[in-house]
Amino acid sequence: MLLNTAKVRVRFAPSPTGGLHLGGVRTVLYNYLFAKKHGGTFVLRIEDTDQTRFVEGAEQYIYDCLKWCGIEPDESPLHGGEFGPYKQSERKSKYWDYALQLIEAGHAYYAFDTPQELEQMRMDFKTNENPSPQYDARIRMKMKNSLTLTANEVEKLLQEKNPFVVRIKIPENEIISFSDLIHHEVSFDSNVVDDKVLLKADGMPTYHLAVVVDDFLMKITHAFRGEEWLSSAPVHILLWKYLFGLDEMPQWAHLPLIMGPSGKLSKRDGAKYGFPVYAMNWTDPRNNEFTEGFKEKGFLPEAFINLLAMLGWNNGTEQELFSLNELIDQFSIDRVHKSGAKFDYEKAKWFNHEWIKKSSSELLCPLVKPILEEKSISNINESFLKTIIDLVKERCPLLDDFFQQSSYFFIAPEELDTEAVKPKWKEDKAGFFNEMCNQLNQLNVWETTSIENCFKTLAAEKNIKPGELQLPMRIMLVGGKFGPAVFEIAYLIAKEETIKRIKSALIILNS
Ligand code: GLU
Repeated sequence: MLLNTAKVRVRFAPSPTGGLHLGGVRTVLYNYLFAKKHGGTFVLRIEDTDQTRFVEGAEQYIYDCLKWCGIEPDESPLHGGEFGPYKQSERKSKYWDYALQLIEAGHAYYAFDTPQELEQMRMDFKTNENPSPQYDARIRMKMKNSLTLTANEVEKLLQEKNPFVVRIKIPENEIISFSDLIHHEVSFDSNVVDDKVLLKADGMPTYHLAVVVDDFLMKITHAFRGEEWLSSAPVHILLWKYLFGLDEMPQWAHLPLIMGPSGKLSKRDGAKYGFPVYAMNWTDPRNNEFTEGFKEKGFLPEAFINLLAMLGWNNGTEQELFSLNELIDQFSIDRVHKSGAKFDYEKAKWFNHEWIKKSSSELLCPLVKPILEEKSISNINESFLKTIIDLVKERCPLLDDFFQQSSYFFIAPEELDTEAVKPKWKEDKAGFFNEMCNQLNQLNVWETTSIENCFKTLAAEKNIKPGELQLPMRIMLVGGKFGPAVFEIAYLIAKEETIKRIKSALIILNS
């Protein structure tokens, strides 16, 4: 695919209306990868023109999310840049001239209809053939706008400061087409597109006008966004044509939807099936509705980025694990699939586990330590924790799993799975462990091999198969049927603690 890579400028343009869904972060990622691959610029633009949808904390959430993912914008409200401001609400004055230009050229018009009149229109013009009438070529000439009123009437209404909006005048019987980098040739029949509002009664542009004006003013060369925006594309294409010329238009790529267990992946799927769909935890301040995030669920950002990249893209080989730098190096938009990408939580966990296994204990230690501390494990020695991390990370698909897999190295288990031992518990085994405590106590060198030798020699003397004794020993030290080699555990928790745990378990088992 031939692309102008000379001065690539892409943007992620979220509306701060809530937490960031998987699909949103994948949009950021693909934009970012493309920009970095082509030595371009990644712009973060906050599209906050719809004041009625303002949600406290949502903008900060976007910054925090990008930071967690390791994606740093080159230009943004926080980073600044020569094309600012990067928040549309702060660009309000820039849009009016373009709206006026469209009105003067006959591509847009003033509309004075009140909300009640619009409601009435939807009822009056409802027919079998047109069950949900829209403000379009069929209806516009029956409404109160600068196409139906005289110039004097319009002037008067404007002077009297009657509320108005500016609507685009969608042409009739036109095929609006453009070439999408993923969907290739895409065409729309203009007769099914309504006269979208471009400028609202509060003087703010709508998303449609603002996105086109800002992409132009910010010299955006490529615009990648979710497929849910494809239906808005004809309005944007027309605005480009009328205002700046189609040659100036960025190259569009509409990214495939992310599919859940039943259709498009939604917040509800997450709640229903118990997996996160947002990047980080989010509580909607309007209704306190909580949505779980990958970060808090125990995902590493490296894994999150990796699994997102693979939702709709591959490099043409079987390779699945990629670092951010490898992704930058290998990403290409023409390998993004057209069809929906299926999200599979088990596979997501697989990615995380692979990344946990790949990560050094150095990197994992500051992430695991607070998880243990939160569950009341205190005075953690970091170098000891790093040893434990290396020993158990094979068993931890999620960061939270480190608690179950390593807490017994720090504190005695609260409960013992005695049911796993009791059926085969006999006096000879009790005798073995009593004696074992004495012998361990006398060991001069406390090492994995010396503990194992002591255990095996005594088992042979007592004529009990070592295999029958290892499970009880594990339950005594760990609490359950999991963890690395039992002698290694004994070595790490040290002599005194090993003997103490065996003795207190014996009391329970013998009772
Ligand atoms: N503001 C839109 C959103 O919230 C951006 C769509 C686009 O990238 O054009 O997703």
